Amino acid sequence: MNLKDYIASVENFPKEGILFRDITPLMADGKAFKYATDQIVEFAKNKDVNLVVGPEARGFIFGCPVAYELNTGFIPVRKPGKLPRETVDVKYALEYGHNELSIHKGDIKKGSRVLIVDDLLATGGTIKATIDLVESQGGIVAGVAFLIELVDLNGRDLLKNYNVLSLIKY
Ligand code: 5GP
Repeated sequence: MNLKDYIASVENFPKEGILFRDITPLMADGKAFKYATDQIVEFAKNKDVNLVVGPEARGFIFGCPVAYELNTGFIPVRKPGKLPRETVDVKYALEYGHNELSIHKGDIKKGSRVLIVDDLLATGGTIKATIDLVESQGGIVAGVAFLIELVDLNGRDLLKNYNVLSLIKY
């Protein structure tokens, strides 16, 4: 299956000059969504993963079915002010702007083997911030999986020490 067939490319969204890769056609197609999920599950299988972590919002969409298949829990990484209990937070630069991400303090048990899932790797800021949150809690990043990688933005440079999967490259 060619997953690229299910990605819509939208010019000048959310800002002038940005070519946005829209994953919603893939999500809307049962076979493509399952195929993409299965590929990520396959990647995780020999890595002893016992927890999946995903940043909001599209990391939830792929992270949760992967966690279900792996029989693990899922922990959300969210923008500030969204999580109700005590959090740890990290600031980072985004492809377009700045952001901050939070995770509930203490929810990742020390030594947990974590698979991080997000929809897209661009500059890598979001995923690096997510890795920092996981590691600050004693989690071990066993793998990092994306649906899409924007190769020219060199996000992989921040991920040299990790096992990385991307299913679609632009
Ligand atoms: P980064 O932090 O790697 O620069 O940006 C990646 C984050 O921004 C991901 O969480 C992703 O959801 C979002 N993002 C950036 N560009 C795009 C895009 O073209 N399409 C989609 N679906 N998400 C994007």
